[in-house]
Amino acid sequence: MNKEQLDTIGDNHISSNIETPLMPDAFDKTDQEKIRSIQGHFEKIMRDLGLDLTDDSLSGTPYRFAKMYVKELFYGLNPANKPKLSTFENKYGYKKMLVEQNITIDSSCEHHFLPIVGHAHIAYVPNDKVIGLSKINRLVDYYAHRPQVQERLCLQIMKDLQDILDTEDVIVVINAKHLCVSSRGIKDKNSFTTTVEYGGCFEQVSNRNEFFASLTGRLED
Ligand SMILES: [Zn+2]
Repeated sequence: MNKEQLDTIGDNHISSNIETPLMPDAFDKTDQEKIRSIQGHFEKIMRDLGLDLTDDSLSGTPYRFAKMYVKELFYGLNPANKPKLSTFENKYGYKKMLVEQNITIDSSCEHHFLPIVGHAHIAYVPNDKVIGLSKINRLVDYYAHRPQVQERLCLQIMKDLQDILDTEDVIVVINAKHLCVSSRGIKDKNSFTTTVEYGGCFEQVSNRNEFFASLTGRLED
């Protein structure tokens, strides 16, 4: 690919796959080995930018950067960090929509490695299984902490919930601001992106409308 094509993919935020593209040896190195290696690379980047790494304020930055990448921003790359999502029997026989809204999205765009911040709103209609509400937040947090594309993040969350809950009746909406849109490129400070993924009963517009109405607190009947 030439440089123009690379920019086009970044600016249009094109995703190639539902799965996060990972190398087969992605987790051969330990976290400590990755931190050590990334620290060295980032030190070089800072030097190339002309920064003086003997300065007290800068000397620890390569280590802080590497640790932040491996342990915080991108902890969700490693399946070993996936939260345990135990389900419970639907003892109440609750068969209506259950909505979890305003779940924090703290992610990073895989084209520019800049933050994506916003909220996810999720609903499902229980079949025989229900899940602890905080587990939905944990699942969102896990998938968000990877280099991401918003469409893929939305799909990965939905597919996992469908599998875990054993139902297609799941809807996921994400509203998010991309710093690569607000701080560089077009530099639009106000726009945000909405992605919607759904299956099962949410294919019916009446169910989607009920869900959207619940998000604004205007649920009628
Ligand atoms: Zn971007």
